[in-house]
Amino acid sequence: MYKKLYSILLISIIIGLSSACSNHASPYPEREPTKVLRPADLTAEELAYHEKYMQYTVDLALANKAIFSAIIVHNNGTIVCEGINMGFKMKDNTQHAEIVVMQNCSKLYSIQNYANYSLYTTGESCVMCQAAIMWNYFSKVIYGTSIKTLYCEKCMGQVLIDSNVINAYGVGLSDDYAPVQIYGDILANVTNTKVFLDYCTNKKVWTVTPNCTAPSSSSSSNSGSTITMNVLINALIALVAIIGFSSLL
Ligand SMILES: [Zn+2]
Repeated sequence: MYKKLYSILLISIIIGLSSACSNHASPYPEREPTKVLRPADLTAEELAYHEKYMQYTVDLALANKAIFSAIIVHNNGTIVCEGINMGFKMKDNTQHAEIVVMQNCSKLYSIQNYANYSLYTTGESCVMCQAAIMWNYFSKVIYGTSIKTLYCEKCMGQVLIDSNVINAYGVGLSDDYAPVQIYGDILANVTNTKVFLDYCTNKKVWTVTPNCTAPSSSSSSNSGSTITMNVLINALIALVAIIGFSSLL
């Protein structure tokens, strides 16, 4: 009797373990998203500095009848490059404003390391753009409207990964990699109302039906406890299934 129970328990744990491990095959340690600095985290002087350049970025978008626009600013305060989304114009969906402005700048000035520059963008960078910003070693990226707002509140199609999640994985780019400092919601009261409109009711080709829930407080728990919980849950499920199966024999 006990031997049978012991065997069932052992098989359950093995199944649970193998199932949990197969879900975590990545060799890279899971990383916490990097901190995003919001207006409340900044001094009045810092906020005014970033709002000035964000206002310039907003004006660039509005003047070009665009919604996504980006500029690159040297640490000495000089605006060196500008760009707007060229996806429709170039029939190339990868021509996001951030990609356009970085390509413009690299062609003009042959810059491959933007450690002395900041990139301002009306909307939070997508996975593609954030990774490109990291590959170019920018020191700062500053955005107005978040991906969450674009998707959940404005029904705009987005890849649902926040830029600070991607940002955490730049450590693999070089041994002395310094994460990009992300500033969010800068002049968001303007970008949320004057640049990005309500596409839920004013439907565009990018309108989607959002599926958003309130963030879970445990969503950022570490991988260790998640794996342990998965092992226990899977073992329990397997145990119940095996006992049920055994009772049929
Ligand atoms: Zn993008």
